[in-house]
Amino acid sequence: MPRILITGAAGFLGSHLCDRFIREGYEVVGMDNLITGDLRNLEHLFPLKEFSFYHHDVSMFVHVPGALDYILHFASPASPIDYLKIPIQTLKVGSLGTHNCLGLAKAKGARILVASTSEVYGDPTVHPQTEEYWGNVNPVGPRGVYDEAKRFQEAMTMAYHTYHGLQTRIIRIFNTYGPRMRLNDGRVLPAFIGQALRGEDLTVFGDGSQTRSFCYVDDLVEGIYRLLHSDYPYPVNIGNPDEITIAQFAEEIIKLTGTKQKIVYKPLPKDDPTQRQPDISKARKILGWEPKVSRAEGLKITYDAFRQLPQEALYKQEHRDFGHYVRK
Ligand code: UDP
Repeated sequence: MPRILITGAAGFLGSHLCDRFIREGYEVVGMDNLITGDLRNLEHLFPLKEFSFYHHDVSMFVHVPGALDYILHFASPASPIDYLKIPIQTLKVGSLGTHNCLGLAKAKGARILVASTSEVYGDPTVHPQTEEYWGNVNPVGPRGVYDEAKRFQEAMTMAYHTYHGLQTRIIRIFNTYGPRMRLNDGRVLPAFIGQALRGEDLTVFGDGSQTRSFCYVDDLVEGIYRLLHSDYPYPVNIGNPDEITIAQFAEEIIKLTGTKQKIVYKPLPKDDPTQRQPDISKARKILGWEPKVSRAEGLKITYDAFRQLPQEALYKQEHRDFGHYVRK
């Protein structure tokens, strides 16, 4: 049974990855410091003997007993409000956390895949974004703590590949959505759906002409699975090229939820990228991958999941005590 470490296991993407690798017959070791992750995302896995969990901050030295065949480094705050609230931790997990994971991979002879991001392209001047584009990032702007940590992560990962011959993979993830996003993480989809469910107006930042391209989580997980098992060490974009303006997106959510509320306009956050769309030619060619779930389908599944959350979750994310599950 192959054994895989997943950092950020209690987060949105991490927990979906745990599910997928358990289903594929792996022994999964999850790790999370639970700053932005939530153990409720893993609750169903704790009874399984193939699953174990470490409550640990990967920015500090990481020790995992036993063999490891694979590491997925997915620990990081990932929404603009999170990394504004915890900028130093964001920088540390992308840099020191990556270094620790690479060191662990080297010690164990494991293959490692690191989660990079479309944010390495910053506010892009090339459209759609290909992997060859070097990006347009403001290092000292509010997003710099995330973007630069991820750029450093890529450089560090390539260095381990080149100098230590480590088997490395780099995925550049574009906006992804689905069940288990935190309703209050500030990202546009949970923000809009949360507002609709609470009967509040939908807040569009700027004039709403900025674009994003939203990928459903199952498609992303499939891309990650294929990239991990490929032999390609350079960055690969994974995302859904179906691009939409944020104003149109708000209209779609209004239709989907049937809310009677309207759109209100708020100031655009600093350095908010004006357009974003992945060029996925590489993923198509190398991985034979492309997204399968349309936005209409994915939004419906996500809305249904959010609707089932208890009423209090709409106003506050409470934290239950999972201490008995947590190994320090
Ligand atoms: N946005 C918005 N209203 C909100 C939250 C976000 O209009 O309540 C906009 C935000 O300014 C950005 C886009 O939606 O242009 C996507 O934001 P998100 O935080 O989801 O992710 P980003 O792609 O910017 O990292």
